Amino acid sequence: MSKVIVSSLYDSDVFKMACRQFDNAADAINLPETIRDRTKYPRRCVAVALPIQRDDGSVTVFEGYRVQHNLSTGPAKGGIRFHQDVTIGEVAALAMWMSWKCSLVGLPYGGAKGGVIVNPGALSRNELERLSRRYMQELIPFIGPDVDVPAPDLGTNEQIMGWMMDTYSNHVGHIEPAIVTGKPVSLGGSQGRREATGAGVAYLIQRYLEDFKIPVGKATIAIQGFGNVGGEAALALSQAGARIIAISDWTGGIYNAKGINIKKALDYVRYQRTLRDFDGGEPIENDELLTLKCTVLVPAALERVITPTNAAKLQCRVLAEAANGPTTFKADKILEQRGDIEIIPDVLCNAGGVTVSYFEWLQNRQNYYWSRTEVMEKLFEVLGRAKDAVEAQKRKFKFSRRLAAQTLGIQRVADAKMSRGLFP
Ligand code: NAD
Repeated sequence: MSKVIVSSLYDSDVFKMACRQFDNAADAINLPETIRDRTKYPRRCVAVALPIQRDDGSVTVFEGYRVQHNLSTGPAKGGIRFHQDVTIGEVAALAMWMSWKCSLVGLPYGGAKGGVIVNPGALSRNELERLSRRYMQELIPFIGPDVDVPAPDLGTNEQIMGWMMDTYSNHVGHIEPAIVTGKPVSLGGSQGRREATGAGVAYLIQRYLEDFKIPVGKATIAIQGFGNVGGEAALALSQAGARIIAISDWTGGIYNAKGINIKKALDYVRYQRTLRDFDGGEPIENDELLTLKCTVLVPAALERVITPTNAAKLQCRVLAEAANGPTTFKADKILEQRGDIEIIPDVLCNAGGVTVSYFEWLQNRQNYYWSRTEVMEKLFEVLGRAKDAVEAQKRKFKFSRRLAAQTLGIQRVADAKMSRGLFP
């Protein structure tokens, strides 16, 4: 028997949700009790205070976290989120999902996540740079190319990764590009990394539409979140011939039954920063977008947006989870009972980002760089293999697609821990 002393440190709805998913998956594969808690709970976490000087001369102290969930299968890997609602529980849940995702896709990584409680839109560029550098500075004792390799997530981007890489490199006294992934190409970033998550989402959607015998040219798509992931997924799907009928960001959404011009919308957001007042269709609320009649619904913003309140109202044929944890545990049960919506679960659906992050890390370590075509070919090969594995597991054990993906991910982490043994 194993006993765990659970502190209230990570206590939050989203952490509880990740734990319930874990328990459910562990029961389904009869994971031995002695390995369960070790596989479930984060290995370590760091909380940091981040003082920065504001442009007006005042000083603000922000709070940040890094949670390393699993280091048994390789260096920890996971993005850094800048958002005003970040909590350590949310970061811990996201770190857990990273462990399962890396393991499902077969990457030699553990799982981690970082976050800072800040609205990045409310900082000037100089303030954002100071905050990004300070966060990296505080993490230096706890991370490294063989220990933990951060990347972008919600609210962070290539430029922020560039500042973080520069801070770390200054500390060690030589350029160390492998400390973060998702960097600008000029600093050792990989071709294709910026679009990798969205392109991977679009690739999997197309593969599944083929399975369900729905021509992509007849598919209508609604996407919540028009940032890195949502924007790139929209572009790739529209280029493949699908009609994107709704997009949104935190300011609200746009609906156009005839199809939104995605290139125009991306150009608009590049200059205006949000979709507010974009004239490509009628305004629509974020809640309304989720229940639109469409072939594919793509939540690509925050977690826990599909809840028991709206799960029964969804009118999509496919739910492609580009965001991490967009469907609550209870909502998932409602969707399972309905049985009319095919779910591409987050750990599979958005795995393209960490896959190309892995390619970037490999290229940095070898100092040998690949072409975009090479990166994309290898990305789709990895995602195709993961999809096939999930479908085989689903058929073999009559699991839902989510349970199939989660059990594959969790089993590998547990196996590695078991094989390594428990250090006395
Ligand atoms: P981003 O910051 O580039 O974009 C986020 C988008 O969501 C923005 O358009 C923002 O306005 C919108 N948004 C924020 N709050 C919202 C709200 N309340 N309602 C509607 N829209 C809202 O972030 P991203 O990198 O595109 O990440 C999006 C999701 O994808 C997150 O769940 C993230 O964890 C996940 N993800 C990202 C990556 C990656 O490589 N960036 C990889 C895997 C998973």
